[in-house]
Parts: sequence; structure tokens; C-alpha cells
Amino acid sequence: MDKAPSLIVCEHCDTVYRRQPLARGQVARCTVCDAVLERHQWLSVDGQFALALTGLIVFVIANVSPIVTLSLSGMQADTTLWGAVIAMWNDDAQVVSVLTALTLFFFPLAQILMHGWVLWFARNGRRAPGFRAAMSALVRVKPWSMIEVFMLGVLVAVVKAHAYFDVAPGAGIWAFGVLTVLVTVFASHDPRNLWDATTEARP
Ligand SMILES: [Zn+2]
Repeated sequence: MDKAPSLIVCEHCDTVYRRQPLARGQVARCTVCDAVLERHQWLSVDGQFALALTGLIVFVIANVSPIVTLSLSGMQADTTLWGAVIAMWNDDAQVVSVLTALTLFFFPLAQILMHGWVLWFARNGRRAPGFRAAMSALVRVKPWSMIEVFMLGVLVAVVKAHAYFDVAPGAGIWAFGVLTVLVTVFASHDPRNLWDATTEARP
């Protein structure tokens, strides 16, 4: 679809611009407040849907596989993300436990599912039921999905624990690593393009 409207409004300061075609890698910025107006969309809707589907598969692997294996004089222990969440809950760290579950499980999962939902319909140029709600929820959930922060935290913890234990990264951590890359690719994409790529279904 290349019948994009010719005007674009800055979300932050309401300045109106005439839209310019963007080349690969180009970003249009507001000259008043420097906010991002629009990014070049280098992935088709089908490509984005494939990315969301891959994200969901990797997300499942990341959550059922051990993150790290600790061994000390012949004894071994490994934990999954959920194992760690439950251990923290039982260890009187309920707040951290709930925050971990929200930022590493529920928000990213909601993000992947909502994206997949709107993209599934967008493949045929249609707006999914609940399109508006899903699009605004996606913008709100985004800052609360913290897989990248988690990756840094685990790496620091692994290096520190290495002084006391033999620490081996598990499949889960590789899956979270791949997920970080997928999330970054996704984040470089502006979900607002879906407003232009779809039209309201006729009742
Ligand atoms: Zn602006």
C-alpha cells in the first residue's frame, strides 16, 4: 500500500508536516522538538508477522529452559526464569518476584501476542477486532518489557557467581539473547505504520 496520507503530525508538539518518502535507514524528525515522526519501514507486514511468530517460539523456549546451571563440588542446580520467580517469592522477596514476572513474562508476552494479533489481520489489509485498543496498549506496554535489562543483570550475576561456583549458561539464556535481538529489531519498527497499512472493516 503506497497511498499513505500526505500529512504527518508530531505526537509531542502537534506540528504538522508534509510527508516525505524515506529511504532505507532514514528517520524523519520534528524540527521543533526532535521527536521521531516516522521511520523507514524496511520489513513488510508479512515479515513483521514472521518476526512476531519467531518471537513467540523463542519466548516459550526461553521460559521453559534453564537459564544457568550452578555446580559446586559435584552438586548441580539449575533454574528456569519461573524457578527463580518462585524462589524469590518464597524467600520473602515478593515485590522483586512480581516485578520480575511482570517485566520478563507478562508484558513481553502481551506485547508479542498483541503484535501478532494485529499483524495477522494486517496481512490482508484489515484491522483486527480491538485494533485501536491493541495499538495504544502496545505503546504503553513497551517501556515495561525489560528483557534487555534482564540480560545485563544475568551476565553480571554469572560473572560474580563464577567466583564461587562453576556457572554454565543454560539454553534459556541463549533464547533470551535471541529474544533481545528480536525485540531490538521490532523496536526499530514503528507500529504506527499499521494504521496506514490497514483499513477499517466494513460492517
Ligand atoms: Zn515535535
